Amino acid sequence: MSNQPAVKIKPKISSVMWKTVSEACNLACDYCYYSTCNGRPGKFNQIEERKLEKFIKEYMEMSQGLVSFIWQGGEPLLAGLDFFEKVVYYQKKYSTKFKRASNSIQTNGILINKYWAQFFSQHGFFIGVSLDGPKEINDQRRVTSTGRPSFDLVMRGIEHLRNHRVEFNILTVIHETNVHCAKDLMNFYQQENFPYVQFIPCMDFKAQQVEQPGVFAITPEEYGAFLCEAFDHWYNDGQPITSVRFFDNMLTGYLNQTAEHCIHQETCPKALVFEQNGDAYPCDFYMDEAYRLGNINVDSFEDIAMNPKLDAFVNQKKNLPEVCKSCEFLKLCHGGCPRNRHNNASENEQSKTYFCHSYKQIYRYAHNRMKLLADKIKQDKLQTLIKVAYPLPKDNDMCICGSNKTFASCCKRLIL
Ligand code: SF4
Ligand code: SF4
Repeated sequence: MSNQPAVKIKPKISSVMWKTVSEACNLACDYCYYSTCNGRPGKFNQIEERKLEKFIKEYMEMSQGLVSFIWQGGEPLLAGLDFFEKVVYYQKKYSTKFKRASNSIQTNGILINKYWAQFFSQHGFFIGVSLDGPKEINDQRRVTSTGRPSFDLVMRGIEHLRNHRVEFNILTVIHETNVHCAKDLMNFYQQENFPYVQFIPCMDFKAQQVEQPGVFAITPEEYGAFLCEAFDHWYNDGQPITSVRFFDNMLTGYLNQTAEHCIHQETCPKALVFEQNGDAYPCDFYMDEAYRLGNINVDSFEDIAMNPKLDAFVNQKKNLPEVCKSCEFLKLCHGGCPRNRHNNASENEQSKTYFCHSYKQIYRYAHNRMKLLADKIKQDKLQTLIKVAYPLPKDNDMCICGSNKTFASCCKRLIL
């Protein structure tokens, strides 16, 4: 028997999201399922500084390379600049030559001023700004507690980000008001030169009541039609201008790479979400007692990350409904998000995701053009290799594109 001490393998956590101010928010969007304060955040709790330090220290000590922190709310900027100054102070304190923190914030954007923008720029924060389209669309649903529209306030925040060269993306909730306006939204993003956009179909469910099915604001057919119309604009004769997360992820499937969005990955990522009180969960759609992994105030970060419930959660996505197992689009879709699957489920089998129809609709509609785009990218890569005299595979060797096919039956046809 070996007398070597057992090597303890540290679990790798892909990212950590912190619900910075829990559900406190300074907007009162009428579709929000999370915040109940109606845009009047009042007094809210924040994590004590020594607990913040413990969390950052333990997470950074367990990680290597770029250590990903995501700050969400409610509205995370309500925590104040001094809170985030402490965050970066402790992140620097526990950085080494081989690891450093990366930060992103999802915000409604209305508190962003030149001081926030300077801070984000100085510390390399990536900012997600929520905006539901042009003024006449956004202002129907995204309003303050007194009903004041938010569009101009958000655009003022975006201007500050631009002035300080802060990287940002736009998150648009798709609901009854904008689901038939894909063209208007895409024109707006392009006019405004927004570089990255993502869509989230509006749904109403309690993350704390996982057994309760979600209530969706739009039908699968409406969302499918929205994606098809947005795709026509995105494709732009084979020269996409605005990066749209759904289509970018779809394209990675055609390039035989793994999608970046968890919904279309084979398993859920091994990530952690912390409520403002320190409770840890595997995903912000699963903040239910049954999924609670511990509390950072009393448990070590490592113990939370080693909780066997986390691995069980990550792998639950692979337990696909029968219909997905034989689906022609499985490689692109991977059955969607499990949180949207269990409506109408029989006792022994999960049902397919609510958005199955939407996915099939866009996958069929976009197939030929996605394939053209992917072939063009593969062709450019081959030409680069030929230019630098890199030896190409022989006919029966595996193709370099990762398709698991032979070169002769795959990318060889793309050589000019
Ligand atoms: S398109 Fe529908 S059937 Fe196919 S993998 Fe996705 S959810 Fe399953
Ligand atoms: S449950 Fe859904 S949202 Fe959560 S990690 Fe899995 S795919 Fe992503």
